[in-house]
Amino acid sequence: MTSPQNVYHTINRTRQKGRSYVSQIALITGASGQDGWYLTDWLIGQGYEVHGLIPCRAPGSGDARLRLHYGDLSDGSNLIQLLDEIQPDEVYNLAAQSYVGLSFELPVYTGDVTGLGALRLLEAVRLHMKRTGRFVKFYQASSSEMFGKVEESPQNERTPFHPRSPYACAKIYAHLQTMNYREAYGMFACSGILFNHESPRRGENFVTRKITRAAGRIKVGLQERLSLGNLDASRDWGFAGDYVRAMWLMLQHDKPDDYVIGTGETHSIREFLDEVFSYLELDWHDYVDVDPKYFRPAEVDIVCADASKAKRVLKWEPTISFRELARMMADHDLELAQRDLRLGK
Ligand code: NDP
Repeated sequence: MTSPQNVYHTINRTRQKGRSYVSQIALITGASGQDGWYLTDWLIGQGYEVHGLIPCRAPGSGDARLRLHYGDLSDGSNLIQLLDEIQPDEVYNLAAQSYVGLSFELPVYTGDVTGLGALRLLEAVRLHMKRTGRFVKFYQASSSEMFGKVEESPQNERTPFHPRSPYACAKIYAHLQTMNYREAYGMFACSGILFNHESPRRGENFVTRKITRAAGRIKVGLQERLSLGNLDASRDWGFAGDYVRAMWLMLQHDKPDDYVIGTGETHSIREFLDEVFSYLELDWHDYVDVDPKYFRPAEVDIVCADASKAKRVLKWEPTISFRELARMMADHDLELAQRDLRLGK
């Protein structure tokens, strides 16, 4: 698999001769996603050289801060070669078919990318380390969806999993394989069991972003109605920028381990609507329709993180409140709607 950026090869060759001038090298899969964007930002701020894996279906799409490589977690054949080329110190596996609702329609694809994809990458890292004698740390993006029909509340690292979607089943598979590679091969492999985290970079099909995008467009007169599913669904919502810092902290600790990351506060979609629409001086009851087609076949219970282990061991704390998050997203999407209006979209 060749890099889309020729300049990378030159840099890489230089590094192989005298690697010491590069402090740390990270590879992020899912680099074009929300977390990929914030993690890139964080790692560059820490002085890293950052490489991103992007799927073949996004040729030409670029993030100038990154050295980009085409690759797909459903195809393991290029991963080892890529690791040999990049020689990363840290690998962050953020790539996934990450839409829970869509996973009911694409269960096998979701299992392949989100579940087996992580195994392909773990195995590639293991083989790369064995052959080169290098030491590589691995981060797996696990999810609070794994708790699903929760067996206790709040949820911590010892709470049993009870998945409620093909996505959650795939994430559990990846999570257990990460644990297995840590225990069987002594790999420095960590999983962050992250609760929902949002930002202005959240995909527009996710409910929070769907709401802020619609609210902005309603405010400027570009949209009249918004259709949503279960307004009582509740989540522990935090800010993506805070959560990527937790990923990095896990890999800087002496010992690899798994950590729950969340705010410890639960809010419903109804509350998110309240925050966003009232901030924009609108009443959401005038605009929102509930459409059963958006209900999931199986809904997760009210989830709430007990992140005390991450707070104690990693000294991690969230910095952005639910209200600040809703307003940050509303501000961003109001600006976007004003631009849409100017462009006549
Ligand atoms: P996104 O959906 O924004 O990003 C997913 C990324 O994976 C995208 O860059 C996507 O590329 C890439 N991708 C999809 N399929 C493949 C594939 N077959 N091979 C390689 N790359 C692929 O997710 P987030 O950034 O929000 O989340 C990052 C990770 O954390 C995901 O694994 C997600 O499941 C997990 N997670 C997220 C939570 C959240 O609240 N955000 C909570 C808990 C876990 P493209 O854009 O081209 O499709």
